[in-house]
Amino acid sequence: MSKKRQNPETIALHGGEYRSDPTTKAVAVPIYRTTSYQFDNTEHAANLFSLKEFGNIYTRIMNPTNDVLEKRVAALEGGLACLTVSSGQTASTFSILNVAQAGDNIVSSTDLYGGTVSLFTHTLSKLGIEVRYADPSNPKNFEKVIDDKTRAFYGETLPNPYLRVFPIKEVSDIGRKYNIPLIMDNTAAPVICKPLEHGAAVVVHSLTKYIGGHGTVVGGSIVDGGNFDWTADPKRQPLFNTPDDSYGGVIWGKAVPELTGANVSYAVRARVTLLRDLGSALAPDNAFGFIQGLETVALRMKQHCSNAKQVVQYLTKHKAITKVIYPTEHKEEIADRAKKYLNDGNGALIGIELKGGIEAGKKFIEALKMFYHVANIGDARSLAIHPASTTHSQLNAEQLAASGVTQGYVRLCIGIEHIDDIIDDLDQALNKISKESLKAVS
Ligand code: PLP
Repeated sequence: MSKKRQNPETIALHGGEYRSDPTTKAVAVPIYRTTSYQFDNTEHAANLFSLKEFGNIYTRIMNPTNDVLEKRVAALEGGLACLTVSSGQTASTFSILNVAQAGDNIVSSTDLYGGTVSLFTHTLSKLGIEVRYADPSNPKNFEKVIDDKTRAFYGETLPNPYLRVFPIKEVSDIGRKYNIPLIMDNTAAPVICKPLEHGAAVVVHSLTKYIGGHGTVVGGSIVDGGNFDWTADPKRQPLFNTPDDSYGGVIWGKAVPELTGANVSYAVRARVTLLRDLGSALAPDNAFGFIQGLETVALRMKQHCSNAKQVVQYLTKHKAITKVIYPTEHKEEIADRAKKYLNDGNGALIGIELKGGIEAGKKFIEALKMFYHVANIGDARSLAIHPASTTHSQLNAEQLAASGVTQGYVRLCIGIEHIDDIIDDLDQALNKISKESLKAVS
């Protein structure tokens, strides 16, 4: 094959080095259900443990099934190395713990998945890592809150409920002035956004969503872009520039490039320290599930995006709806970011605000027949949720407004069913609530 970089559709099927199983010639990636791997001799074992040689030791830290998935996800994002973990939450947690320790801080976008907010607010703060927030509508807000203890910037490509595309290059450029890497959660936009191409250093995914695609497995991944110099400013990145007592005094930023010939210190450190110590490994059976999902992710994303575009066109004309939230429905600079960062579609998430507020929101969800009522995104099936009566029901009116969720807000995640059937279901549900509100007035 030529050296030219393959396209996502091809990478998802052929990426990485796996062609067929070396022993059986099986084409499908085998599930290596083993905890451990036989060493050739004591020297081989010693070399593996001291990182003089790379190879399998124990499945908590690496597994051949996971390895195929990792190589394919890394290639899909255009990165150099990847680590898979037990959930998207673990991926976000590790991505920070790999650069920050007690006394350090990171600067995060205010537009975040609720689980990440909870992780940042409660668990990271208990570990002594401060999370400072910056509103991404103006990228300069990130620069305003950094200090000499800032170790990373964090953002989400396509965060709901606002669905404002994150200014990846703008924030990454600021970070690179200070040797601060940008970590992007690209869960909602695989294939359609490539954060590493715009300067991000690390990409995390909840594989549970579009990459798995079928709502059957929970997992996460962390891709090392190989495009960040961890040694350029030793004071800025102490975890990569000071001896690690837990690993015989190794200095990760120097040792890994020397050993591997590649700039993959971030991925290697995460694997051999965080996975070793915290143990949140992805089971090989689940890695197999993701390999199946990954094979069709590019195809599914096209269908998700094309369906969502048509749903937006339909919804913007409906009288029961006061507002449609979608990356391209924003104004000026924010809408321009969708053009700049998203290719071949604008994602499958759509927010709508219903005229009738909380009661209309509840009734609309109950009237849907085909859409599933679930707290999830990225499934092949169409999904809907009314946050004010579910995920956000504990919040008071003020907190609700701050989260961007109004009483009548409904989040849709458009699936890959036939577009006519999707619109039919939305139409019958919206017409039902419109009729009921007319009845209430008369
Ligand atoms: N990041 C985003 C954007 C998410 O939507 C989610 C889950 O909804 C996560 C991370 C966490 O992923 P998981 O549920 O796999 O732990």
